[in-house]
Amino acid sequence: MASNRVRLVLHGGAGALPDRDYSRQIAHMRGLVEAGRDRLNGGAPALDVVVETIAALEDSGLYVAGRGASPNRAGVYELDASLMHGPTRRVGAVAALRGFASPIQAARAVMERTRHVLLAGEGAAAFAADEGLETIADPATWFTPAAPRGEGGASSQTGTVGCVALDESGALAAGTSTGGVFGKLPGRVGDTPIPGAGMWADDTAAISCTGEGEMFIRAAVGAQIAFRMRFGGQSLEAATTATLAEVGALAGEGGLIALSAAGEIAMPFNSRGMKRAWLGAGGEIGSAAF
Ligand code: ASP
Repeated sequence: MASNRVRLVLHGGAGALPDRDYSRQIAHMRGLVEAGRDRLNGGAPALDVVVETIAALEDSGLYVAGRGASPNRAGVYELDASLMHGPTRRVGAVAALRGFASPIQAARAVMERTRHVLLAGEGAAAFAADEGLETIADPATWFTPAAPRGEGGASSQTGTVGCVALDESGALAAGTSTGGVFGKLPGRVGDTPIPGAGMWADDTAAISCTGEGEMFIRAAVGAQIAFRMRFGGQSLEAATTATLAEVGALAGEGGLIALSAAGEIAMPFNSRGMKRAWLGAGGEIGSAAF
């Protein structure tokens, strides 16, 4: 039976340029919102739906995450992802992960199978191998970079995927996955796998960010939004607007999706665009790139 409590919002990155056609991404994102809606209405936990949605975004090759990621300056693909369960604040993340098809599945394994929060580099890869996660045989043929190497400012140089969801039990969850920013140095890690920066979920709000990760870390975007609401009594709208303004004050570009425990949705961005789709309060599916 359909519930009007469940919500889902996803993004396909802040790197949307006005002269490009995003109809494939929009159609794909809408399909994933529909699938997520059906799962949530069937009683699936928000955490599962977030992982499934992000895994599908990664696998599509349509965004700068998973299969669509771009290599670092040394030509190596190093991917980051994180996942958080609001009610328990359990969290798992991987950084600079090489050689695995789905960073979000690796983040989930860190959450569920270790006592740690974040595994990086070779250790993350060794753990993912022990967990039997799908490996990439040949990065040269497996990756299909979704975007050309950046020209045209910061907003063309980013592109991440993320999802936030609220399930029938009232639980929030959030996740984010990325190939990082174009032209990054080997070993560079952005906001995506950092809980409280590029991703956060507690019992107040669930947040997933996209944009210039350094500034999202410096503004502690995920935690700042949740704490403005929890300790400052701000609405989701006010908290997200004020926090993104801090990113802007640091000369950072990007955006975020956020969902409150009450089911409110906010999707602000200061970049030229942000690909996104959502399941609204009336059960309607929306989508936009700008
Ligand atoms: N925030 C990501 C990072 O800095 C990039 C992006 O959102 O496109 O790694």
